Amino acid sequence: MITDTHAHVTWESFDADREQVFARAREAGVTRIVLVGTNLASSRAAIECARGRAGVHPSAGIHPHDAQQAGPAERSAIEELCARRECVAVGETGLDWFKEYSPRAAQLDSFRWQLRLARALDKPVIVHCRDAHADVLELLREVPGLRGVMHCYTMGVEELPAYVALGLCISFSGVVTYARNEHIRAAARAVPEELLLVETDCPFLAPQGRRGQRNEPAYVRETLAEVARLRGCELEQLARATSANAERLFGLAPL
Ligand SMILES: [Zn+2]
Ligand SMILES: [Zn+2]
Repeated sequence: MITDTHAHVTWESFDADREQVFARAREAGVTRIVLVGTNLASSRAAIECARGRAGVHPSAGIHPHDAQQAGPAERSAIEELCARRECVAVGETGLDWFKEYSPRAAQLDSFRWQLRLARALDKPVIVHCRDAHADVLELLREVPGLRGVMHCYTMGVEELPAYVALGLCISFSGVVTYARNEHIRAAARAVPEELLLVETDCPFLAPQGRRGQRNEPAYVRETLAEVARLRGCELEQLARATSANAERLFGLAPL
């Protein structure tokens, strides 16, 4: 059993073959998928899409790119979705100083709000961090008792201890397989096993060998294989360990 802890299968790039995508995931042994919301529409879509699908679990939140667009009405709708029993996490949220599609003040305000929401609901938060390490840490430290995951970890070993000290899970995507990312591979070797997760972040970031193609949950197996190789362990053992971590973090009932 393999768990893809971060997938956007509700994206329109999957409209033509969504059922086959879920079927291929099952065939590849990807028995669990977290469908991640990025704004009100995609959060609603994640909840709809997960309904009646065993092993598929939705989250709801506002991505940093969408922070500026989300006003009070969207926020209260997201709060309602996050409070639902089937919604396993708040997010994705965080800070993106690389693209900065939303102004920094809007991103900071949206991230703070979602961190407090996660704490209030006692649900994990899914954190997106791009070129924003110091500010992400500062805001995370404002809310003691948070649980969550640093998704698509692209930093190195130097930044890692601060997140580990907060007890956050660290999730690796296909970028850990890209040739130039030795610093990410070093981090993937160093994460304590009980905090380790894998994800696709599909449709983006297909693993090396499929780069440029649309990514999908079945391919998380290739990322898992690379992380297992780096850590010198068996893929099946790491699949079990990372799935158990995902179960614990997101409160998933055993399959
Ligand atoms: Zn992200
Ligand atoms: Zn994402």
